[in-house]
Amino acid sequence: MGKIIFYILIALLIYWFINYQRPKQKHSESHTDIAEDTVTCAYCGVYLPKKEAINDLNQSFCCQEHRDSYINSSS
Ligand SMILES: [Zn+2]
Repeated sequence: MGKIIFYILIALLIYWFINYQRPKQKHSESHTDIAEDTVTCAYCGVYLPKKEAINDLNQSFCCQEHRDSYINSSS
């Protein structure tokens, strides 16, 4: 009887170990996605990747039109 409980405990440990490892890997993957650099358009406030943004006047913009509109509205 004692041996059966021993084997059940080992099976539970293996089961717990496999389930514990998987979500940890997924979590670290999704964390790197969020860590990607994003900026906000100074004109409309939309979020976009830093590499796709247009930078001018120490500001970031989502498109040329918003950059021009921002310059026209501020001057
Ligand atoms: Zn914009």
